[in-house]
Amino acid sequence: MLWPLTTVRDATGRLTIGGIALADLADEFGTPLYVYHDETIRNQCALYREAFQTAYPGARVAYAGKAYLSSELLAIIADEGLGLDVVSAGELMMAYRSGFPLERVVLHGNNKTPEELRLALELGVGEIIVDNFYELDLLDELTRELGRSVDVLLRVNPNIDVHTHDYRKTAIVDSKFGLLIEPGFARQAVERILEIPGLRLRGYHAHIGSQIFEIEPFLTSISTLFAFAADMYERYDVKPAQISPGGGFGIQYQKSDPEVELGTFAAQVSDAMRKGAEEYDLAPPQLTIEPGRTIVGQAGVALYRVGAIKDIPGVRRYVSVDGGMADNIRPALYGAKYEAEIANRDSVERATVTIAGKFCESGDVLVRDVALVPPEPGDLVAIPAAGAYCLAMASNYNLALKPAVVMISGGSARLIQRRETYDDLLAREVGTVARSTN
Ligand SMILES: *Cc1c(COP(=O)(O)O)cnc(C)c1O
Repeated sequence: MLWPLTTVRDATGRLTIGGIALADLADEFGTPLYVYHDETIRNQCALYREAFQTAYPGARVAYAGKAYLSSELLAIIADEGLGLDVVSAGELMMAYRSGFPLERVVLHGNNKTPEELRLALELGVGEIIVDNFYELDLLDELTRELGRSVDVLLRVNPNIDVHTHDYRKTAIVDSKFGLLIEPGFARQAVERILEIPGLRLRGYHAHIGSQIFEIEPFLTSISTLFAFAADMYERYDVKPAQISPGGGFGIQYQKSDPEVELGTFAAQVSDAMRKGAEEYDLAPPQLTIEPGRTIVGQAGVALYRVGAIKDIPGVRRYVSVDGGMADNIRPALYGAKYEAEIANRDSVERATVTIAGKFCESGDVLVRDVALVPPEPGDLVAIPAAGAYCLAMASNYNLALKPAVVMISGGSARLIQRRETYDDLLAREVGTVARSTN
């Protein structure tokens, strides 16, 4: 599904979520505005929890926070019983300050800094997913210095190509993530982990990419992890307590995108886990799954106000909005395709237009050739499936102020992240140039 649950047009043609008109939110909070729907997020959490716990008892679901983080979202994730993947000290700090249970947090990253590892050990995260030898040296030192120990998983590169944008592939040979099995890198890392008194090797992790619709690569990844785990058991007598095939499941951005049936996916992944355990005569390890996009993508809608409209006869009609690549870089970065709707009114009439952002790049086009109610300046454009990797990748390009975020919950709406201010923009200027607030 493209839109948050309960999205409908009201009697006057305005788009509503949970009974609240997006046009009213735009008037109250300004645009660009990101609107999230609590019940849609919770519904996705519950679907994952139930699908995986039914198919594979004891399975854990950890939300990949890099898709979108805010304190209010973390409260929902915690309440729904999910864990949390973080990839930086910033994300970890947000989890800590938001009161997220830190034993449910796992730290990822291909270049964790000494400061990030220190913070993770001091705060007591549940697990660290080890990516490289440099990190193992750091962990060796830091666990001794702090007198701490920690559970780790080794991130293995299972060498699997998937059908997604090159920038979203993470497990081909030429990847900066994880350690390859073939030349023995992953095995050497296991040896090294076993030498470090402060590390407890819990198992193996792989993450093959993002926005993936096929199930097969995940099953191959699991069987590769089991073959490796069995080899490590044979060599070092260390049994895998946990196996994680990561995240990366696709969502619908356009109606033409497939919809992955979670129950089928969970069942097949679970079968692959049981098959792997049986094949190598291992006790079935715990399964951890790490969805990001699928938890928050559908729950978020981006709202923009239409400004300049430029007709280039016989070529295209550019409808420019008050946001763009600074709040959603995905079209420019990945060629991502979206749908859109006019949110403040409806009509049977449609015109094919191109929705352009306001930033100083020709590539700042949000949606090319979309059939919309013919837009006028002042209309509102709503883009669905904007909950993941939009705000999370937002920048201050052109010194844009980052958008406000509203959460609709139980039929009411509240601001959960305020819009940035000019003071926020200037807060880091520490030079001696006098500045006036007039
Ligand atoms: C990004 C990432 C995820 C989540 O990916 P989605 O495509 O958002 O589901 C999960 N695990 C790891 C290690 C990641 O880097």
